[in-house]
Amino acid sequence: MRKLLKGVHQFQTSYFSTHREMFEQLSQGQHPRILFITCSDSRIDPNLITQTEPGELFIIRNVGNIIPPYGALKSGEGAAIEYAIEALGVKHIIVCGHSHCGAIKGLLQLGNLTEQMPLVYDWLKYAEATRRIIKEHYKDYEGEALLNAAIEENVLTQLENLRTYPAVHSKLYSCELDLHAWVYKIETGGVVVYSAERCSIQAKHNEDESDEIKQESPAHLSVNGNGKSVAVWNNLK
Ligand code: ZN
Repeated sequence: MRKLLKGVHQFQTSYFSTHREMFEQLSQGQHPRILFITCSDSRIDPNLITQTEPGELFIIRNVGNIIPPYGALKSGEGAAIEYAIEALGVKHIIVCGHSHCGAIKGLLQLGNLTEQMPLVYDWLKYAEATRRIIKEHYKDYEGEALLNAAIEENVLTQLENLRTYPAVHSKLYSCELDLHAWVYKIETGGVVVYSAERCSIQAKHNEDESDEIKQESPAHLSVNGNGKSVAVWNNLK
């Protein structure tokens, strides 16, 4: 706690005082263009990895970056989505999963959670489609490859859940909203951007294309077999 209190003091005396104008403006209202949905995992910092300032990202965080389908649960997630679209008018929704996600590890071994973490077990039911896809279509995968496939499939599952919200559906219909699926790699700082179609992930796996590019370029876009883009933003070195 002492570290945090010291941090607050440091924030007030350094960052805040040099960005006073920005904070005064923010006190008048927020106008984020992006709804960023990611995991509660302490290793993910949305503002850090996107190099954005306060006021730029409206953020939903929970275990496993999961969005229950519309009507399945009266959840804070639903309220935040509705608010982001109707009140704030966000133009993009990003679902950002991450490597080494404990929630997705749990999803792959659900049986172990029932007694120890019944609430997590219940919550992961909203990622059941991910579990089923992995069980039925990734039979040859194991270990880290299996986990990575589940993390990737889950961001697409959650985009599909997002589409069940009337507010999202209506804005997609009028082309006023874009949905994006990302996976952040903790160990490299890379961000893989998936096409919002499942076959793009399968095609990528079939081609045995690495998630990470080897060359040191700030951005890289590869087009997979079905012509859909799989962009890999490598960390700047
Ligand atoms: Zn996670």
